Amino acid sequence: MNDLAKLEGKPRCHCGVFGIYGHPEASVMTFYGLHALQHRGQEAAGIVSSEWLPEKKRFRFNIHKGNGLVTDVFRDGTVLRNMLKGKSAIGHNRYSTTGSADNKSNVQPFVVNYKGGNLALAHNGNLTNYRRLRSELQNSGTIFQSTSDSEIILHLTARSSKPTQIEQIQEALDAVEGAYSLVVLTDTALIAARDPYGFRPLCIGKLNGSFIVASETCAFDIIGAEYIRDVLPGETIVIDDDTLRSGQFHSIWAARKPEHPRHCIFEYIYFSRPDSRVFGESVDKVRRKLGKLLSEEDPITPEAEDDKVVVINVPDSSNTATLGYVRASNKRGLNVKMELGLIRNHYVGRTFIQPEQGNRELKVKTKFNTVKGVLKGRKVVVVDDSIVRGTTSKQLVKLIREAEPEEVHFRVSSPPIRFPCYYGMDFPSREELIANQCNGDVEAIGRELGVDSLAYLSLERLLEAAPSEDGRQYCTACFTGKYPIPIDSEGSKNENDA
Ligand code: SF4
Repeated sequence: MNDLAKLEGKPRCHCGVFGIYGHPEASVMTFYGLHALQHRGQEAAGIVSSEWLPEKKRFRFNIHKGNGLVTDVFRDGTVLRNMLKGKSAIGHNRYSTTGSADNKSNVQPFVVNYKGGNLALAHNGNLTNYRRLRSELQNSGTIFQSTSDSEIILHLTARSSKPTQIEQIQEALDAVEGAYSLVVLTDTALIAARDPYGFRPLCIGKLNGSFIVASETCAFDIIGAEYIRDVLPGETIVIDDDTLRSGQFHSIWAARKPEHPRHCIFEYIYFSRPDSRVFGESVDKVRRKLGKLLSEEDPITPEAEDDKVVVINVPDSSNTATLGYVRASNKRGLNVKMELGLIRNHYVGRTFIQPEQGNRELKVKTKFNTVKGVLKGRKVVVVDDSIVRGTTSKQLVKLIREAEPEEVHFRVSSPPIRFPCYYGMDFPSREELIANQCNGDVEAIGRELGVDSLAYLSLERLLEAAPSEDGRQYCTACFTGKYPIPIDSEGSKNENDA
């Protein structure tokens, strides 16, 4: 199974979500929204639309989903207009560690028809108490269709004895713990909800009178929609015909609302697109600041007049941080310049035939090549956003060395990753993380990568780069091991006890 983030040796996010209410081409808009959110999940995609059947006086939910990129799943564009009819739709891009990636029953949105009516759900995040809830539900007779934690929310909703669908959904959400940014489509409403910690982003937009909810604002830009605000941590909003008339959302709050939400700081470091606003701030702005602060932390300085230092980005994930790094270095009077020393092949799709596991060199070369004239004889500073296993970075350094630079220095715009994520980002086990293999010894990691020097951004400076107005706080558990929410111990290690 190929996946672009996997090929780059980066952590993968589990999902992107999109929902629209009250638009004549709801599923077409959803397709474009999912396309803009493709980076959040590349293994599967799906759209569910809600269509009013006047002759039957009821709504019908139409569904189309499958494995692959959005353009693969919706290759036959007639599906959008002829099958996915209706004025409301939700969509989902998926990558998941729970269950087999090829298991089609895990592809979202999930749809059920129960006593309350139709319900479709698309979820970004990971529930931390899902093992316990799943075994409780199974013991009381619930049959699961998938191995996904998201299905729990549907079962809890269907079992609720509350009188309205929105109350049933809210009761289900009050029972789950962990990270969720979700969109739910009912017969009469689009519901968007975010967990009380606000781990994953979720924002609200508007397009010609219809309302949209999406993981990132880049999904609004593609269809010309305007960003209104974020769904707030712990908030559930209901968009229905009243909202179309009045422009007002019906807002409900979670029973347990923490004092300080913990947004995932990794969204700023790597995951979100730089052209998005996430947690109310421009990702580009934060990422440039990460580069700026990194340039101050262990600068590579030209030693002589003719000493040429070139700074290169690892495309595309470190482009913005590299710009910030170079600009800040120049402002301090350092004679360094940015060069495009690494070229990325953008045509490595999911169906690309991967070389054998052992052939890591070829694997990296399918993705990157160097511009030799730019690197030869230079002091090269490589700026990257993160190092996970270190295998890709090591091969990248080897590739750069083949271009005969004088020195290679590696700079990382985040601290060493030492712990896995349980809130919706896929990291390998602790044992596989290079920072753990080297016991956090940065020099040892540098030796392992084959560089002349290695430096990471410190946690303090990382937090300095992220916006801190209104007392907001961030989850930094993959760097610190301090998990804001304890993890189900059944079958999964609780890193708080590590
Ligand atoms: S552990 Fe890391 S990746 Fe996961 S939510 Fe926290 S900061 Fe984000």
